[in-house]
Amino acid sequence: MASDTHIPLPTHRAQPDAKGFFGKFGGSYVPPELQKQMDEINYAYQRISRSHDFIRELRAIRKHFQGRPTPVYYCKNLSDKIDGARIYLKREDLNHSGAHKLNHCMGEALLAKYLGKKKLIAETGAGQHGVALATAGAYFGIPVEIHMGEVDIAKEHPNVVRMKILGATVVPVSFGERTLKEAVDSAFDSYLKDPVNSIYCIGSVVGPHPFPLMVREFQRVVGIESREQFIEMTGELPDNVVACVGGGSNSMGIFSGFLDDPVELYGVEPLGRGAKLGDNAASLSYGSEGTMHGFNSIMLKDAKGEPAPVYSIASGLDYPSVGPEHAYLNSIGRTKVATATDEEAVYAFFQLSRLEGIIPALESAHAVAYATKLAKERPTQNILVNLSGRGDKDIDFIMANYGEFAEKQY
Ligand SMILES: *Cc1c(COP(=O)(O)O)cnc(C)c1O
Repeated sequence: MASDTHIPLPTHRAQPDAKGFFGKFGGSYVPPELQKQMDEINYAYQRISRSHDFIRELRAIRKHFQGRPTPVYYCKNLSDKIDGARIYLKREDLNHSGAHKLNHCMGEALLAKYLGKKKLIAETGAGQHGVALATAGAYFGIPVEIHMGEVDIAKEHPNVVRMKILGATVVPVSFGERTLKEAVDSAFDSYLKDPVNSIYCIGSVVGPHPFPLMVREFQRVVGIESREQFIEMTGELPDNVVACVGGGSNSMGIFSGFLDDPVELYGVEPLGRGAKLGDNAASLSYGSEGTMHGFNSIMLKDAKGEPAPVYSIASGLDYPSVGPEHAYLNSIGRTKVATATDEEAVYAFFQLSRLEGIIPALESAHAVAYATKLAKERPTQNILVNLSGRGDKDIDFIMANYGEFAEKQY
C-alpha cells in the first residue's frame, strides 16, 4: 500500500438494523401477506445460518461443488501494457457455472432445504440468475420455477436452454412489456399462492429485508478469500478494490472483506450510451431516493416517479436501482461510484482477452475498464478487480455488433 495516501474511514454499521435499514436505505415495503413471509425467512435465516451443520455443509459445497476458493491472479501483461498500477483479478469467472451468482443461489437453496421447501421460485431478465438457481435446484433436488418475459426468452435463447437442461420450469410471461418487471410480478404471484411450500430466491442484494443482508452474507466469501489471498501474494492490502454494480451483489461481496481497511472501494456503474435518462443504468450516479421492489434506495425515475427505462450493453447491469447498502455506503463516502460506457466495456473485453487469455463477462468488463483508467492515474498503487463472470455468453453478440474491435491492436 502506498504510504502517501490517506484514506478516511467514515464509521459505518456492518449490519442493517432489526428492520433491515442501512441508515435510511433498505427496509421492507411490501403488502402485509408478503411481510409475514419475509419475517419468517428472516427468522429462519438468523437461526439456521449460524448453526454448525449449515456452515459445515455450505463450506463443503463451496469447496467440492463450486471449486472455491477461486484464485486471485496478477495481470502482468495488462499491467505492463498500461504502465500504471498493478492490476489483480479475483477470478469469480472460475466459480462453477461461470459467475459469482452461484454463491448466493447455493446459500438460498441450502436454506430452502433446511426449511423443507418443495420449490424455488425466481424471476430472471437475461437468464443468469435463472441458470444459477437451476444449478442449485439440480444439486439439492428441489424443483425450480423461473419466470421470464417472452421478449427476454426470445433474446436469451442459450440461457433458456441451459435452464431447461438443468431441469427448471421456465414460465413465459406474456403481459405488459413482457420483460423483467412483469417477470417479477408473475414470480411473486406464484410465490404467494403457496408460500408455505415454496421460497422466493432474489438474485442480488436488493428487495425487502432480509434479502440485501442475506445475499451479501452469502457473497462475503469473495471478500474474505481475496483479502487473504492478496495479502499472501503481495504482503500488503490492495490500495483499491473495483467491482461492477448492477443490483450490487458481486461488489458488496468483495467490498465486505475490506470495509474496515484503509482501502478505496469503487463501484462501477454502466454508463451505456451516455448520461441521458434511458441511455444508461447508472442509478447511484444519476438517481434519487425512492422506493421500488420492496425497498428504499437510490433509483432512476421517469417523469411520473416510476422506475425509469434503463439500458446497458450488459444485461446483468440493467437495473434502475441498487442495493440499499450501496446507497448507504456511498452516502457516507465509504465507497465511490465510477462509470464505464458500452464502448469502454467492449474495449476492456477485448483487451483482457488478448493480453491475458481471459474472456470476461460484459458486466465484469465494466470493472476492468475503470480499473485500467485508475491504473494510469495511480502508477505506484495496486488494484484488485472482482471479475464477476466469464464472457462465453457474450461472444456471439459481440462479434455481431462490435466485430470491428476484433481488428484493433491491444
Ligand atoms: C448478474 C451479474 C452481474 C450484476 O449483478 P450484481 O448483483 O451487481 O453483482 C455482474 N456480473 C455478472 C457476471 C453477472 O452475471
